[in-house]
Amino acid sequence: MSNSEIVEVLELTAKLLELHNADPFKIKGYSVAAFYLDKYKESELQFMTEQELTKLQGVGKSTATKIAQIAKTGTFPELEELIANTPLGVMEMFNIKGIGPKKIAVLWQELGIDNLHELELACLNGTVAKVKGFGANTQQKILDSLAFLKDQAGKLRMDKAEVAANSIINELKKTFDQVEAAGEIRRKSEVVETIRILVGTDSPALLQNTIGSIGLLVQDEKKSSPFVWRGNIQDVAVAIEIVAVKPERLVNELFLETAGEDHLGLAGTSGNTIWRHAYYETADTEHAIYEKAGLPYIVPEMREGAGELAWAETHTPDQLVTWDDLRGILHNHSTYSDGQHTLEQMALYCRELGFEYLGIADHSQTATYAQGLKVEDVERQHEEIARLNARFASENPSKPFKILKGIESDILGDGSLDYPADVLASFDYIVASVHSNLSMTLEKATARLLKAIENPYTTILGHPTGRLLLSREGYPIEHQVIIDACAANGVVIEINASPWRLDLDWRWIAYCMEKGVMLSINPDAHAMEGYLDMHYGVANARKGGLTKDMTFNALSLGQMEEYLRGRISKMG
Ligand SMILES: [Zn+2]
Ligand SMILES: [Zn+2]
Repeated sequence: MSNSEIVEVLELTAKLLELHNADPFKIKGYSVAAFYLDKYKESELQFMTEQELTKLQGVGKSTATKIAQIAKTGTFPELEELIANTPLGVMEMFNIKGIGPKKIAVLWQELGIDNLHELELACLNGTVAKVKGFGANTQQKILDSLAFLKDQAGKLRMDKAEVAANSIINELKKTFDQVEAAGEIRRKSEVVETIRILVGTDSPALLQNTIGSIGLLVQDEKKSSPFVWRGNIQDVAVAIEIVAVKPERLVNELFLETAGEDHLGLAGTSGNTIWRHAYYETADTEHAIYEKAGLPYIVPEMREGAGELAWAETHTPDQLVTWDDLRGILHNHSTYSDGQHTLEQMALYCRELGFEYLGIADHSQTATYAQGLKVEDVERQHEEIARLNARFASENPSKPFKILKGIESDILGDGSLDYPADVLASFDYIVASVHSNLSMTLEKATARLLKAIENPYTTILGHPTGRLLLSREGYPIEHQVIIDACAANGVVIEINASPWRLDLDWRWIAYCMEKGVMLSINPDAHAMEGYLDMHYGVANARKGGLTKDMTFNALSLGQMEEYLRGRISKMG
């Protein structure tokens, strides 16, 4: 078990104890341990002896015993008893934002509500607002959170969906030559509802048998037919469809099963929808389908019916950004703040991957939860960067790799950045991001961001909405106003490439490009392997039509340095 899994078990225990009104000291024992253990980065807890565990901050003797048990078995007897005494529906209430175990206990004990459905009804008819300590505000918060939970049920983030799809595809490829991912997976959607896989075969029965022999796949017999297997992977809610198609129809079916409905409804110079051409005719390539319809070729990622034809009037697919176009990696964390690898490790791996520069951007001083850098830490880091850069220059004088001095500055509540001007001026570039006070009104969030964008030291606006896909809705912002302000102030917008974020949303990329706002595909890496998240960022950027020309980190080191110098001279 990893540290974070152990921490989760401790947190769950604390919540359940609180729910069951246990001794506060006992509750505190677990929550304090979880709080401190969350800070240990490596997966080491599982190897420690009880004596060693007892020496850690926040861990008492009895907690150490429990941790050792959790590390071995994933649980411990007291937790099992708590779980056995708690209805599943009550445990699900832990996912609701805005109410903690104490309030959940009230809902359960006083109103007798033990599932989300009844909770929703009780909110809708106003019962919850009348309970002491709740009120209309809390009731509305519960309803909003329930709506959000409902909306995300049965969906997977693209990274998880890809892993699931590939595991099935690899199994099928042992028997079939033509196995293709279609649907949202091929369109590189940030969130996937259905994993759709096409298999070219003349024998649907062989396909059904093959699927039957793959472990963990659970068929929904009612929804399946001889040609389409429907079901899911055990314990994974997302729907899976595996479709048998005749080999000679594979191109057409792959097209039909990939494109979104709005894309299929597009019509070109032929006067017919592209759906009609794909459905009634047979083509050798997808290019041929577009040609027949009299439409420009659209890459699979963009087949959404979300403005791709307008995009194609002024762009061609070969202009879309690719991984190989990227020349540097901006917005990364090191052990100076909450990263797992040292600055040197981060730099060496970045260079090894073939990039020309690493933009380090650790957290700023207000971010104490992430060990944000005090002014002395900034100075210390800048000294180390100078040393490393000198070494890189001596190792390869003709084309030296370089670390750029950045910071991810918190945007404070009033929109200002997190250091005095002289410190801000000591960085090569600044990513400005919101991390705290996330519940804001549209007006407040927009005004806060505007002030940060207008700050002359801001180079990049980091993860503009703060969303975490399928987990936390972002704060609301007036996208158009924010993008216009970035255009007016020469601020780049980040496409945070973490599959949790993919923020800026791809739907706004075309508007950015139209306004001349560059986008930076940033991994927000907290460890070396985090760089690879840029694959998700690239996929999502292409989906929105991002070209190499408008990609900030496709600039070479020379161009990047010139750009950053230009910004500094503008500040005077
Ligand atoms: Zn951040
Ligand atoms: Zn970050």
